[in-house]
Amino acid sequence: MKNSNGYAESFARLIKCPTVTESGHEYFDAFHKVLDEEFPLVKDNCERIELGRDVLLYKWSGKHSDRPIVLMAHQDVVPAVGGDWHFPPFGAEIKDGKMYGRGTMDCKNTLFCTMQAVEELIESGFTPEQDVYLSFSDCEETSGPGAEMARDWFKTHGITPDVVVDEGGAIITPIFAKMKKDAAMVGILEKGYADVKFIAKGKGGHSSQPPKNTPVARLGALVNYCEKHDVFKAKTSPASKAMIKGLGDALTPGLRTLARMFGGSALLAKLLPKIAPALGGAMFKTTMVFTMCEGAAAPNIIPQEAWVNLNLRFSPNDSPEKCFKKLEKIAKKFDCEMKVEKCRAASPMVNVDGNGYATFVSALKKTYPDVAVVPYIVFGGTDCRIMQEISTSAIRCTPFRMSMKQLGTMHASDENIDIENIEPCVNFFKNFIESYK
Ligand SMILES: [Zn+2]
Repeated sequence: MKNSNGYAESFARLIKCPTVTESGHEYFDAFHKVLDEEFPLVKDNCERIELGRDVLLYKWSGKHSDRPIVLMAHQDVVPAVGGDWHFPPFGAEIKDGKMYGRGTMDCKNTLFCTMQAVEELIESGFTPEQDVYLSFSDCEETSGPGAEMARDWFKTHGITPDVVVDEGGAIITPIFAKMKKDAAMVGILEKGYADVKFIAKGKGGHSSQPPKNTPVARLGALVNYCEKHDVFKAKTSPASKAMIKGLGDALTPGLRTLARMFGGSALLAKLLPKIAPALGGAMFKTTMVFTMCEGAAAPNIIPQEAWVNLNLRFSPNDSPEKCFKKLEKIAKKFDCEMKVEKCRAASPMVNVDGNGYATFVSALKKTYPDVAVVPYIVFGGTDCRIMQEISTSAIRCTPFRMSMKQLGTMHASDENIDIENIEPCVNFFKNFIESYK
């Protein structure tokens, strides 16, 4: 059995496998071989459910099967081309206590800590109260089918996981002066997503004899209108209230009292987006931003058709249908057509009164007594939203300590973690599995 020094060595072997999404099968086969070698007890004691290439699914049988746990992560990583890496991206080099490499934080750390926790528990002779499944897709970064295959297997077998844990939040060091504690950011719901195209049409023609009100001019006016007007209002939701309350525990006493007093208030929902527009808006509102546009094929043509793409992130308060109705009115106002290209509503909120969430939080407090637990709204997307279709508690958090600087290296150059933070995260997963009743 490896000791905590051995963790870094073992973890490095995972990082050295360049499992870039959609790279050849041989890279993933080599990765599976490393997993078998590093976690022999998982290999011998857990059933590997064969679902094809895109997902590794293990079942560790517990005393009961009616309320199983699913622990998720992904095997694949984003490419490490370009940027200015100071270390070889698949070298797992260590400098000043940090290991550098693609996947160190997104999210082979999750995969490693989960596997290592199960390995150690098996070695100690422990049998979990409920079945534990480990589900690792190999195509998360490209929204591939791995997680869906696992979800479908659970559905076909009539298995309803009581709690699902996936990547998402981490334990972050204080981000402003009045924050006195590290905070474990526990993702309890995911915002919705849509792409909407606005299309303006006209007669077109040669640019030397321009008419007024061309497609590009109308789209320009529409974009301007959307930027200037508060199309979607800020509102509190149960999730944003839980977040403010949790954040309160990480603050200095004065601010903590303020957070408790105003945490659930509509006033805060109105004020915060004004004080900190990007973060406050993302927390309390359906946000939207124009991301793509296209006009004529040449500089001297007035286009017959031009379009802009609007990217939306729905708050849990707003249904996509309601938002689209508002946008349709705006489209009409500027004589444009509107087409929804892609859409999913915000996910349901984790059942924070349920056993799964309570066990997760108590394992967090046991492992990291000095850390504030802050539930939060996940703005981006993970595979977890696929599994949440079959579970009421899909928690998005790997309790791994990271600085904001380290978080900034995700999908960027010099991705790294502190190797001393591996051990507590392994302990967290052990605590979670052991205390889950
Ligand atoms: Zn990830």
